[in-house]
Amino acid sequence: MRGGRPLKALLLALLGILVFTCGCTPATEPSPAPGTEVPVVERRSFDGERAYQYALEQCQIGPRPPGTEAGWATGDYIMGQLEELGWEVEAQEFLYRGVRLRNLIGKRGQGAVVVLGAHYDTRPVADRDPEHPNEAIVGGNDGASGVAVLLELAEVLGQYELENEVWLAFFDGEDSGRLEGWPFCVGSAYMAEHLTVEPAWVIVVDMVGDADQQLYYEGNSDQPLRQRLWDIAADLGYGTFVPELRYSMVDDHVPFINEGIPAVDIIDFDYPYWHTIEDTCDKVSPQSLESVGRVLEELLVRGDEMADQVNGRRSH
Ligand SMILES: [Zn+2]
Repeated sequence: MRGGRPLKALLLALLGILVFTCGCTPATEPSPAPGTEVPVVERRSFDGERAYQYALEQCQIGPRPPGTEAGWATGDYIMGQLEELGWEVEAQEFLYRGVRLRNLIGKRGQGAVVVLGAHYDTRPVADRDPEHPNEAIVGGNDGASGVAVLLELAEVLGQYELENEVWLAFFDGEDSGRLEGWPFCVGSAYMAEHLTVEPAWVIVVDMVGDADQQLYYEGNSDQPLRQRLWDIAADLGYGTFVPELRYSMVDDHVPFINEGIPAVDIIDFDYPYWHTIEDTCDKVSPQSLESVGRVLEELLVRGDEMADQVNGRRSH
């Protein structure tokens, strides 16, 4: 991604028409008669250590640029994880400038479609690295972290009967921008332009694993949805979500905004190893992955409950 000018007109047009549609019910919802004992269903929350394992597995593949064997293997790895966790998987293959790209979408639940997205490709060269500008990056944060959050969410959300049709979208071709004439966000643009249903919203996670996490408001994001996420983070006590505007990014949320769909980018752009060969998994922290994962879990699993709550009363 790169910094860019805010799409102010678009945002204004989107304001006021946003309808939140999220929430869910437990997979086995008991409707007990008075006095009956209710079986307790144990569910676990998003676990940063588990998410971190998904990041490590991607880093072990090595650099994962579009059109390479490693890139394709990463797609296969993501599909394998989703299928194992019981998600229906759609692969969206297409050619861009002669390169075979593939987006992947895991789908689960019924209701209005909501999308959580991340790019799984890594930048082909470390062009911000003064000493190794032609080497490929491993993308521990810029690539692996977002995918790691989505894969751990696949398992966590799988414990529930979702009241939305949740899509976990894995974009190819995000990070080759300004290289050999490529733009950024090729995969997400393809997906946004080929939608057959209109999602209620899209949330993109990118570079969310930095151990020194600072998640500021992103300037192109849909404001009500962004507010809701940062409010949840505050409610959960995550001070790393800073409710102040810092950067406006061209990232995978923008193609959806261009289609009139409310979208938010959760990104920590204060990352000294960005587009250098130092962007490796040791810069990623399980706790940082966990704070982002828990906020998304809260939005999807307890969204409606939270909207109904007053005075900070919690139901769990
Ligand atoms: Zn990047």
